[in-house]
Amino acid sequence: MNSKIQVGVLGATGMVGQNYLRLLQNHPWFEVVYLAASPNSAGKTYQEAIAGRWHMRENLPAKFAKIVVEDASQVDKALGKCQMVFSAVEMDKHSILAVEAEWAAKGFGVVSNNSAYRYTDDVPVLIPEINPEHLDILAVQQKQRGWKKGFLVVKPNCSIQSFMIPIYALIKAGYKIDKMIVTTLQAVSGAGYPGPASIDLIDNIIPYIGGEEEKSEIEPVKILGSIKDGKIVSNPDIKISAHCNRVPVTDGHTACVSLQFAGRKPEMADILRIWKEFTAEPQERKLPSAPIPAIVYRDENERPQPQKDRDTGNGMAVTVGRLRKCNVFDYRFSGLHHNTVRGAAGGAILTAELLVARGYVK
Ligand code: NAP
Repeated sequence: MNSKIQVGVLGATGMVGQNYLRLLQNHPWFEVVYLAASPNSAGKTYQEAIAGRWHMRENLPAKFAKIVVEDASQVDKALGKCQMVFSAVEMDKHSILAVEAEWAAKGFGVVSNNSAYRYTDDVPVLIPEINPEHLDILAVQQKQRGWKKGFLVVKPNCSIQSFMIPIYALIKAGYKIDKMIVTTLQAVSGAGYPGPASIDLIDNIIPYIGGEEEKSEIEPVKILGSIKDGKIVSNPDIKISAHCNRVPVTDGHTACVSLQFAGRKPEMADILRIWKEFTAEPQERKLPSAPIPAIVYRDENERPQPQKDRDTGNGMAVTVGRLRKCNVFDYRFSGLHHNTVRGAAGGAILTAELLVARGYVK
């Protein structure tokens, strides 16, 4: 690529926004030139806006320190400055629907981390390894909304990547899933900053994350769905029951999965081979953020673990382990991914890379 694509980050001061800046600081295709957040941060330099709340382990990249933060709702200010924005603003649903539509209407490609549009049938919820063909809906989206150049793509909830990519590998290999029970153990960073109060979290597990179980049941079947008559239609055949727990882990969501196949069942050795050999469009196109391999299987009984496995593949790979027969369903396993990388900023960057590779952003 001769010159980099100019991009913006909305919600740049937040937990996900900071991860965008960390991951994009030396990106080969994208240059972050525009930062926006709430009216409280607008007008301040980025360094001033995040004073006392920079959560990344490495220092703030110097190139972003002096950029003046804008108000994410003032879309016109970005005109002529960037082509695409990553959205990670924390606002009420109504405001997000309005703001993200305005960015797309004004010609920007929007890749969003928010849940507001995930259930809209002309908006793809993308895991680039699984449903890249859902990007075909963007032509319909632009036509019916009157957007000439802009578009809107969202990434799914941060709870589902750890089980969706291993499950999809089996589906791609020809094994149909009938049902699964998924119990997630979700890190604190998934709640943004400051997250749950420490007194609730230390020495504790909270068996409820508002809206998370519904998202973990609805989003996978949309991702595994297909485009029919100008709409993304969810896969009606797969049933999921989710239990979502908040645990005192900083980063890394774990999922314990029991699954039952419909019809033909693979042998244990088949599953291990399918995971090992799994590759998809991001790997085949060698997108800059694509993990190779996408799925890493650990043989040790005590893996995967957040501390040891969340950074596998630069935080973009899924680590699985503990594959064994299930006494109730067919098989069970544990999966783990980095929630603010693969589950948030990194997953959206991979989506943006796919959009470039498929010609949606030039
Ligand atoms: P966060 O740490 O609370 O950050 C929120 C961001 O939104 C900040 O930049 C904040 O700016 C901005 N903001 C707040 N009110 C605003 C307003 N009225 N107008 C414009 N910007 C406003 O949240 P987060 O964890 O980064 O999450 C951001 C979004 O990503 C949420 O929708 C969340 O559900 C989603 N998400 C998060 C994760 C995760 O693992 N954390 C994963 C997937 C998806 P100020 O600093 O100026 O207040």
